[in-house]
Amino acid sequence: MILIDGKKLSKKIEANIKTEVEELKANGVVPGLAVILVGDDPASHTYVSMKEKSCKNVGFYSIVHKMPDTISQQEIIETIEMMNNNPRIDGILVQLPLPKHIDTTKILEVIDPAKDVDGFHPYNMGRIVENLDAFAPCTPVGVMEMFKEYNIELEGKDVCVVGASNIVGKPMAALLLNANATVTVTHIYTKDLSSHTKKADIIIVGVGVPGLIKANMVKEGAIVIDIGINRLESGKLVGDVDFENVASKCSYITPVPGGVGPMTIAMLLQNTLKAAKGRTKWKTFYISYTIFQQVGLAQ
Ligand code: NAD
Repeated sequence: MILIDGKKLSKKIEANIKTEVEELKANGVVPGLAVILVGDDPASHTYVSMKEKSCKNVGFYSIVHKMPDTISQQEIIETIEMMNNNPRIDGILVQLPLPKHIDTTKILEVIDPAKDVDGFHPYNMGRIVENLDAFAPCTPVGVMEMFKEYNIELEGKDVCVVGASNIVGKPMAALLLNANATVTVTHIYTKDLSSHTKKADIIIVGVGVPGLIKANMVKEGAIVIDIGINRLESGKLVGDVDFENVASKCSYITPVPGGVGPMTIAMLLQNTLKAAKGRTKWKTFYISYTIFQQVGLAQ
């Protein structure tokens, strides 16, 4: 059994990002990330401070707009619009979940798709489904990076995705399809979950149910990727897989913590860097255009 080390891989990716940021900075571009954090959910605050710390480590400019959970939808929209128009900001992230009175879909649709580094905007989601260049959601794209790093071939493999949310399961399934895997997506209404997982070469689970995937649901030699993050009453952090009993059956498995979690943050940084590079492209185009204008070669 090989343990897929997301912590180590994320550190390697972040080191590469740091080097690229230094090069960008030499050209006058500092990648910028704006985070919108509504309410006082402790888990959201922890995630946001981890993201802030990672931004600092790689040399990004970052700001966090903290808002009370009594804030109106319109006020959040106005803050996003301000960030859409802020040239120092390349990426905008709205920390989910939002309070009940806020329409999350509406909020996510206000983000400029070119700054949608979480990859939740329907425009980016549509492009992912069509296998076009786009910002892909950080968690599924982090899982794809793990496959790449460990030379895990996906073409023709039977993959069972457990959980079908817009931010995890659905984009995960799309990325796997694009990599020519045969994908089965299961969810809370799936009648016999283990009949699907037992057949799979690869199981990817992100549901939020501790220990859902048990040893008798996994075939010998399978690869198991655990996206779930659950805090038990004891304070212990566990995934959706009964790791103790499943691990020995697997050829590869991710731990929780130290698996997919750190990869999600690394991919957020990667997406923000990509957005900043897009900004340089436009900047180069704009400078060239201005020079051409000055010498009379453009109107
Ligand atoms: P969600 O509640 O939006 O979606 C859960 C999905 O799981 C749904 O499709 C639901 O139908 C399915 N599901 C629930 N119970 C099930 C069951 N018993 N059997 C089969 N399917 C079931 O949750 P989400 O936002 O997609 O997050 C899922 C999990 O992934 C959570 O534990 C969350 O903390 C974790 N997560 C981790 C990361 C990371 O960086 N590792 C990122 C995002 C989410």
